[in-house]
Amino acid sequence: MSQEKKVYIETLGCQMNKSDSERMLGMLSHFGYIETSEPKTADLLIINTCSIRQLSEDKAYSYVGVWSKWKETRPELKIAVSGCVAQQYRDKLLKRFQKVDLVMGPRSFYRLPSLLEKINNGERICDVEDAVNEKENNYPIKRISGYNAWIPISEGCNNFCTYCIVPYVRGRERSRSLEVIKKEVVDALKQGYKEITLLGQNVDSWGKDFDDETLRLGKLLRELNTLDYDFRIRFVTSYPTDITDDVIKAVQECDKVCEYFHIPMQSGNSEVLKAMNRRYTREQYGEIVKKIRNTFENVTITSDFIAGFPGETEEQFNDTLSAIDEFELDYSNTAAYSPREGTVAAKWVDKFLDEKTKKERLARLNEKNRQACLKSNQKALGKIYEVLVEDFEEKDEKIILKSKSRNNKYVHFEGEKELIGKFVNVKINKASTWHLAGEILS
Ligand code: SF4
Repeated sequence: MSQEKKVYIETLGCQMNKSDSERMLGMLSHFGYIETSEPKTADLLIINTCSIRQLSEDKAYSYVGVWSKWKETRPELKIAVSGCVAQQYRDKLLKRFQKVDLVMGPRSFYRLPSLLEKINNGERICDVEDAVNEKENNYPIKRISGYNAWIPISEGCNNFCTYCIVPYVRGRERSRSLEVIKKEVVDALKQGYKEITLLGQNVDSWGKDFDDETLRLGKLLRELNTLDYDFRIRFVTSYPTDITDDVIKAVQECDKVCEYFHIPMQSGNSEVLKAMNRRYTREQYGEIVKKIRNTFENVTITSDFIAGFPGETEEQFNDTLSAIDEFELDYSNTAAYSPREGTVAAKWVDKFLDEKTKKERLARLNEKNRQACLKSNQKALGKIYEVLVEDFEEKDEKIILKSKSRNNKYVHFEGEKELIGKFVNVKINKASTWHLAGEILS
């Protein structure tokens, strides 16, 4: 019997990348590879890259650099680069990094088994073509997270925001079929997962590429809600103007669907939004948030913002800060603008802001976000939340359980380890910036 090989995957970037890594690990385990957390002991090293910011891209190159050095003394070691950077630079990466054996994109990694065979026979390969026929395979998925299963329901994006590389590297929007999604959800539930998060770059656009006009996110949520398991459902990421009344109604009707919406606004100023090619104004964004807040009592609405977009004035940036207050956004992911080669905004060099200004605006944005989080958490005081217990830590000889509420708040409370993986009710009695604390109700 051949000796087991070890694989190490380093995953950078978004949840979609993490989900892709879970699939790669699943395929590899089917072919006898075992996962190791010690990269130095691995036979195969994979860096699953992210190209959303220059920083993530540089991080990927630094991994490849270190691993290439290891290969000087271990020539049998195989190095693969996957993800968005791989898709973007393709065989240029093979030329730049002579020790890399395999370059594969987010649409081609499904061919990993046959690619592996080739690189193990000494070939160096770049494969970034869409693996249409290999995509819906029956290989296992080696999920990384404990109780939450990430299920991609669509891939790619048609929006072409001027700062974003995603449509170029992940391609146009493609929805997975209801049957395939449902099967994957049921498989995860059978394995004991308690939370399902439906993933898509624009999750609300699911089904728009189908002929059947009834197949939309609302229907998918209703369908999954009928599954006879004790679990809950989330969906991310929502494009503001794609959230239909039917989706809001479905969230309201379906007891398993959580009251949580992640709706990136990106800027609080309508002119900047136009330059970003976002298809809404500040006011339209506000209308959507209002509609959601009027429908659900304890809803959490989170967002993403970019500080220092090309040409952004001080006044326009202040509109972003005021939007967080005005729309009472509960939490926001923040980043300074980073030009991405191949995107429209990357060409507006004469409008680029200097690094100091971007850094300073990002710091102010982060401070505003911190204040907004604390304010949002304080609203939870005295409320009773149903939480899913995910983990624990020992503190002052006590067991502190870590959990998440339906509305996506982190809740800590004292309890028994046996509660991990279970739903319990907790009364909130303390609010900090990043989490809540409370006591379990018997
Ligand atoms: S909606 Fe815009 S930001 Fe989001 S993935 Fe598509 S192009 Fe990128």
